[in-house]
Amino acid sequence: MSGSETGTAPVLQVENVEKRYGPVRALNGVSFEGRPGEFIALLGPNGAGKSTLFQLLSGLFTPDAGMIRVMGHNMLRDPVPALAGLGIVFQQSTLDPELTVMANLLFHTGLHGMPRSLAKERIHRELSRLALLDRVNSKCGQLSGGNKRRVELARALLHEPRVLLMDEPTVGLDPASRTDLVKLMHTLKRERSVAVLWATHLCEEVENADRIIVMHKGKVLKDTTPAALMADTGMPGIEEAFLSLTGPVEAPV
Ligand code: ADP
Repeated sequence: MSGSETGTAPVLQVENVEKRYGPVRALNGVSFEGRPGEFIALLGPNGAGKSTLFQLLSGLFTPDAGMIRVMGHNMLRDPVPALAGLGIVFQQSTLDPELTVMANLLFHTGLHGMPRSLAKERIHRELSRLALLDRVNSKCGQLSGGNKRRVELARALLHEPRVLLMDEPTVGLDPASRTDLVKLMHTLKRERSVAVLWATHLCEEVENADRIIVMHKGKVLKDTTPAALMADTGMPGIEEAFLSLTGPVEAPV
């Protein structure tokens, strides 16, 4: 059995979501669900619509059609409880390099209106779990790329979300830090029962995912386990299966 808790209610529901940029259909009827404790890989080549989907999931933009629910809360009608259920790690670093780890995290908890004593308790808890407590007074600009990502992950966890959105979080990391981060996410999803949605175009990051959603040109082509993805396409590996569905990588124009 996968890490998912079968029979539990979905914490993330995406139903027939559409988004256009002028004539470009960036998302064309995208639907899927995420349950507690699932690591779901969103695998798609450049232009598949992953970033657009993350922008809608994080409430930055609204879909042209369709519905997004987090913990049952409709993102359009009830954005406050819906967003409270989400933790987000963006592709680009959003830490202030001149501030310490503690100051960056306190800034975030302040935005969430968390009382300072509770915030400090949770910051210590998260940094300790992510083996970062010794860097609490370091300026973020002095941290390695891998540690910056860990601080961003700690920040995303402070308000105890049930869904973690990770938008190509290994961009710019060296291979060892990439592997560490993937492993850490698998531990987190088990320990916290969070649903992790991990967008990437790198097949090696998704081999141990509970489910792989293959996106291409704004559509979901497959939503299945890694083993079933290989079996369905008759391919020996995830990379081959992915390429058989999405075609060779197009050269940038
Ligand atoms: P991915 O993150 O998978 O690379 P995107 O969501 O960035 O995919 O892009 C999906 C499609 O939407 C692509 O065809 C892209 O060119 C187009 N697109 C994305 N953002 C914009 C924008 N702001 N204006 C016009 N087209 C866009």
